[in-house]
Amino acid sequence: MNHSKLRVHGRESGTELLDRALGRQEILGWLHEADEAKLETLWRQADAVRRENVGDAVHLRGLVEISNSCVRQCGYCGLRAGNSALARYRMSADEILACAHLARQYGYGTVVMQAGEDYGIGADWLAGVIRRIKAETNLAVTLSLGERPEPDLAGWRRAGADRYLLRFETSDPDLYRLIHPSLPGRPSNRLAILATLRRLGYETGSGVMIGIPGQSFESLAEDIDTFRALDLDMVGVGPYICHPATPLGQGKWLRLLPEDEQVPNTELMVYKVVALTRIVCPEANIPSTTALATINPQNGRELGLMRGANVIMRNLTPPAYREKYEIYPGKACINETAQACHMGLRHRIETLGRCIGAGPGGRGHHALS
Ligand code: SAM
Ligand code: SF4
Repeated sequence: MNHSKLRVHGRESGTELLDRALGRQEILGWLHEADEAKLETLWRQADAVRRENVGDAVHLRGLVEISNSCVRQCGYCGLRAGNSALARYRMSADEILACAHLARQYGYGTVVMQAGEDYGIGADWLAGVIRRIKAETNLAVTLSLGERPEPDLAGWRRAGADRYLLRFETSDPDLYRLIHPSLPGRPSNRLAILATLRRLGYETGSGVMIGIPGQSFESLAEDIDTFRALDLDMVGVGPYICHPATPLGQGKWLRLLPEDEQVPNTELMVYKVVALTRIVCPEANIPSTTALATINPQNGRELGLMRGANVIMRNLTPPAYREKYEIYPGKACINETAQACHMGLRHRIETLGRCIGAGPGGRGHHALS
């Protein structure tokens, strides 16, 4: 049963009509749409659904990239274990706490700890870090640490972690297996882990990359339908960006599609997916991602916010580590200090007529206190 649809149908609003109208064929139609005037109606609809369901607030999250070590061999990511050219780091508890205090000082409601799937991050050690963040800052804590076993996820939840982000990357099982190999003896099933996270009481976020070589329009439409079916609390989507030190970047592990079937990894395609996601998941927190700002440094983030997004993640990782967290080349804001990023951001948000969200900015129906 589709819980998202049930909730949407319970509301008396234009959103109901929009959601009903967006069947698989309509989603596909929008993904193929090239007419700018028609796309304007999609942007307007997504913006209206955003305003009606999550308001004008833009929630800021402080992102801390706590380790770039990873046991996995994802074919697209610069942090993959096989990238021996990358110098690895792992932040200390005190360094992480200093970033959390910075987030609080800037008025952010949430600190997001992201890393490779790094078992050097011990479950008990991180539980202690989470408890310290809660005790010293009272910020909401989001984790994005890969496919950790259930006892680790449960322990972090007990320690006070509120949310977990784990993209399923693509709903096409063959493409997923091709680009995201399992570890020996541990088949990778991110959808099952998302169900576990839900059961453990996390606010749960997922998402996909757009324009992965071998990703068809049909499978991208299925991704968007899957967001709706999973009733996600957070959905993050961004363009696939080629990294030359990866198998995909070196032309290996490629599934080639006819040109008219391959989803392009363009800025326009990302806006379409952000807008469609807002319409099918009206209450979700949707970030305007760093990857979007990377392909359009001038106003990619702003256009994302105008077309359905309501969250911005600010990078608070100390600059010396930040340049080593190279999941793809040329990441936005890589050389700016956290302070410079922060000042530019407030101005940009206010220029759009939006305001900065107060508090933790959880999903409405089970917002955190
Ligand atoms: N290791 C954790 C995981 O995989 O969930 C969290 C960190 S991982 C770097 C976060 C996300 O980066 C992945 O879910 C993936 O969607 C994205 N990513 C990795 N390589 C990318 C690339 N080349 N282009 C765009 N996004 C990429
Ligand atoms: Fe590791 Fe995540 Fe990169 Fe995969 S996407 S190699 S799990 S950091």
